[in-house]
Amino acid sequence: MIVPCPRCGKETEMTGNPYRPFCSERCQLLDLGNWVTGAYRIAGKEDEDEDGGPPPPREGQK
Ligand SMILES: [Zn+2]
Repeated sequence: MIVPCPRCGKETEMTGNPYRPFCSERCQLLDLGNWVTGAYRIAGKEDEDEDGGPPPPREGQK
């Protein structure tokens, strides 16, 4: 059974493919990474004001 990879659209054989439905480990990891990053952003969005990104750089003060 040949299905297009949901990540890159490349037609790939699904049977015996450990990375199905993706064409390769790379696409699987990319998709997983995307999902994790997206979830992380959504989860961290509300806290952004309190403890979000890196602290602003302070210059000229010690
Ligand atoms: Zn792919």
